[in-house]
Amino acid sequence: MATFRGILTGAAVAFALLSGASPISAQMPSASLPGVDPALLEDIVIGSRVLADFGVLDGFGHVSARHPTNPNHFLMARSLAPALVTADDIMEFDLDGNAVDARGRSVFLERFIHSEIYKARPDVMSVVHTHSAGVIPFSVTKVPLKAMFHNPSFLAVGVPVWDIRKDFGETSMLVSDAALGKSLAETLGDKPVVLMRGHGDVTVGPSVKMAVFRAYYTDVNAKLQAQAMALGGEVNYLTPGEGVKADKTNFIVIDRIWGVWKMRVLPTLSK
Ligand code: MN
Repeated sequence: MATFRGILTGAAVAFALLSGASPISAQMPSASLPGVDPALLEDIVIGSRVLADFGVLDGFGHVSARHPTNPNHFLMARSLAPALVTADDIMEFDLDGNAVDARGRSVFLERFIHSEIYKARPDVMSVVHTHSAGVIPFSVTKVPLKAMFHNPSFLAVGVPVWDIRKDFGETSMLVSDAALGKSLAETLGDKPVVLMRGHGDVTVGPSVKMAVFRAYYTDVNAKLQAQAMALGGEVNYLTPGEGVKADKTNFIVIDRIWGVWKMRVLPTLSK
């Protein structure tokens, strides 16, 4: 069975990029995940790699998707740096964080971030966890993260901050069991983003593309907000009403920016 990585070489990549056609891999079932559209696996791969390329993810962090036909399962890579994830690395888990078919592969300690959010939020189809450098200052101070411009307009509904120490005392800071994940999911509530004190953030969305978009623009927003505040004086943020209206446009333009992101990382898959 040819692999996603193996197929996307040379002329195939050029053809896909130039023609706008779906990658050939989209027609190839995954050997390890029967019934899962390879296009969904590709979104996880592209999202993981582009966030790493932007420095939103480094050696850590992960992108997952709810299983398309079994809402009580989700898909995420084996324990691996996001920049290295291929479709063949993606595994299936239940909502208790158990791998369906581990086959000796190591799994992420913080998979409970994903399992507990999928449990709590039936609307969520994708979860991204980052250690975004931009958001850390907003996770450890009382300065709220607010929407600076139209792309991160989803922040205008408010950004809660989860402090692991509040209910769990002094820990390793990692969301390494279901109780910690549940607490994080409760603080997320119905919002698209939650910051984690001294750790990073989690973004969620109705698709992998939107969750990745939100992870990227949350980091950009945080950096710009720190710059605007450093200039001094009052910052003129988007209002919640502007946020709702502007976020509708994000759903219209997502495929445009996704195409650019895909072009950016596809060559890394052919190596
Ligand atoms: Mn983490």
